[in-house]
Amino acid sequence: MICLRCGYCCKSCMVVIVDDPEKGIVDGNLIFHDGMKQPCKHLVGDKPGEYSCALHDYPWYNETPCFSHGQIERGNTNCRLGEWILKHEIPENQKTTSIGKQESENEV
Ligand code: SF4
Ligand code: SF4
Repeated sequence: MICLRCGYCCKSCMVVIVDDPEKGIVDGNLIFHDGMKQPCKHLVGDKPGEYSCALHDYPWYNETPCFSHGQIERGNTNCRLGEWILKHEIPENQKTTSIGKQESENEV
Protein backbone atom coordinates (compact mmCIF):
# COMPACT_ATOMS: atom_id res chain seq x y z
CA MET A 1 0.00 0.00 0.00
CA ILE A 2 1.25 3.44 -0.88
CA CYS A 3 0.41 5.91 1.87
CA LEU A 4 -0.67 9.22 0.37
CA ARG A 5 0.18 11.07 3.58
CA CYS A 6 -3.29 12.39 4.20
CA GLY A 7 -2.66 12.16 7.96
CA TYR A 8 -5.85 10.31 8.84
CA CYS A 9 -4.24 7.23 10.39
CA CYS A 10 -1.77 9.15 12.54
CA LYS A 11 -4.57 11.40 13.77
CA SER A 12 -7.30 8.85 14.28
CA CYS A 13 -5.95 5.32 14.87
CA MET A 14 -5.28 3.75 18.23
CA VAL A 15 -1.82 2.21 18.19
CA VAL A 16 1.17 1.46 20.38
CA ILE A 17 4.06 3.80 19.52
CA VAL A 18 7.56 4.51 20.73
CA ASP A 19 7.72 7.46 23.14
CA ASP A 20 11.36 8.65 22.99
CA PRO A 21 12.84 7.83 19.56
CA GLU A 22 16.38 7.88 20.92
CA LYS A 23 15.61 4.98 23.25
CA GLY A 24 13.83 2.87 20.63
CA ILE A 25 11.77 -0.22 21.37
CA VAL A 26 12.58 -1.00 25.00
CA ASP A 27 10.56 -1.63 28.14
CA GLY A 28 9.07 1.58 29.52
CA ASN A 29 9.35 3.44 26.23
CA LEU A 30 6.15 2.28 24.58
CA ILE A 31 2.99 4.36 24.89
CA PHE A 32 -0.57 4.09 23.65
CA HIS A 33 -1.59 6.67 21.08
CA ASP A 34 -5.31 7.30 21.47
CA GLY A 35 -6.47 8.62 18.11
CA MET A 36 -9.66 9.97 19.69
CA LYS A 37 -7.78 12.68 21.56
CA GLN A 38 -5.02 14.18 19.46
CA PRO A 39 -2.69 13.53 16.50
CA CYS A 40 0.30 11.30 17.14
CA LYS A 41 3.17 13.22 18.76
CA HIS A 42 5.48 12.07 15.96
CA LEU A 43 3.34 13.35 13.09
CA VAL A 44 5.08 16.10 11.14
CA GLY A 45 3.33 18.64 8.92
CA ASP A 46 0.01 20.39 8.73
CA LYS A 47 -1.31 19.75 5.25
CA PRO A 48 -3.11 16.61 4.00
CA GLY A 49 -0.97 14.97 1.37
CA GLU A 50 2.24 16.25 2.94
CA TYR A 51 2.29 14.72 6.42
CA SER A 52 5.21 12.54 7.46
CA CYS A 53 6.36 10.51 10.45
CA ALA A 54 9.42 11.56 12.42
CA LEU A 55 10.24 7.93 13.20
CA HIS A 56 10.49 6.41 9.74
CA ASP A 57 14.27 6.60 9.49
CA TYR A 58 15.03 4.91 12.79
CA PRO A 59 16.44 1.38 12.35
CA TRP A 60 13.75 -0.20 14.55
CA TYR A 61 10.81 1.39 12.71
CA ASN A 62 10.07 -1.72 10.65
CA GLU A 63 9.33 -3.57 13.91
CA THR A 64 6.47 -1.23 14.83
CA PRO A 65 2.71 -1.72 14.26
CA CYS A 66 2.75 1.45 12.17
CA PHE A 67 5.14 -0.15 9.69
CA SER A 68 2.83 -3.14 9.32
CA HIS A 69 -0.20 -0.97 8.68
CA GLY A 70 -1.80 -1.66 5.31
CA GLN A 71 -5.03 -2.16 3.45
CA ILE A 72 -6.75 -5.41 2.59
CA GLU A 73 -5.77 -5.73 -1.05
CA ARG A 74 -2.42 -7.19 -2.01
CA GLY A 75 -0.12 -5.18 -4.21
CA ASN A 76 1.50 -1.81 -3.97
CA THR A 77 -1.46 0.37 -4.83
CA ASN A 78 -2.50 3.78 -3.54
CA CYS A 79 -4.35 3.80 -0.23
CA ARG A 80 -8.01 4.00 -1.17
CA LEU A 81 -9.02 5.77 2.02
CA GLY A 82 -6.31 8.36 1.48
CA GLU A 83 -7.47 8.92 -2.09
CA TRP A 84 -10.99 9.56 -0.84
CA ILE A 85 -9.89 11.91 1.92
CA LEU A 86 -7.67 13.98 -0.36
CA LYS A 87 -10.43 14.21 -2.93
CA HIS A 88 -13.02 15.34 -0.37
CA GLU A 89 -10.76 17.39 1.83
CA ILE A 90 -12.67 20.14 3.62
CA PRO A 91 -10.74 23.32 4.42
CA GLU A 92 -10.48 23.91 8.18
CA ASN A 93 -12.46 27.17 7.96
CA GLN A 94 -15.38 25.46 6.24
CA LYS A 95 -15.90 22.59 8.67
CA THR A 96 -19.27 22.52 10.41
CA THR A 97 -20.24 21.46 13.88
CA SER A 98 -22.94 18.91 14.61
CA ILE A 99 -25.55 21.66 14.69
CA GLY A 100 -24.50 22.97 11.31
CA LYS A 101 -22.73 26.17 12.35
CA GLN A 102 -19.31 27.00 11.07
CA GLU A 103 -16.70 26.56 13.78
CA SER A 104 -15.39 30.06 13.12
CA GLU A 105 -18.80 31.45 14.15
CA ASN A 106 -18.35 29.97 17.59
CA GLU A 107 -14.93 31.42 18.22
CA VAL A 108 -14.63 34.44 20.49
S1 SF4 B 1 4.56 6.79 14.94
FE1 SF4 B 1 4.55 7.74 12.93
S2 SF4 B 1 3.38 6.36 11.59
FE2 SF4 B 1 2.93 5.80 13.77
S3 SF4 B 1 1.09 6.97 14.29
FE3 SF4 B 1 2.84 8.19 14.89
S4 SF4 B 1 3.28 9.57 13.13
FE4 SF4 B 1 1.95 7.90 12.42
S1 SF4 C 1 -5.56 6.85 5.30
FE1 SF4 C 1 -4.08 5.99 3.83
S2 SF4 C 1 -3.06 7.77 2.93
FE2 SF4 C 1 -4.05 8.43 4.83
S3 SF4 C 1 -2.48 8.28 6.40
FE3 SF4 C 1 -3.67 6.35 6.41
S4 SF4 C 1 -2.51 4.97 5.06
FE4 SF4 C 1 -1.81 7.03 4.63
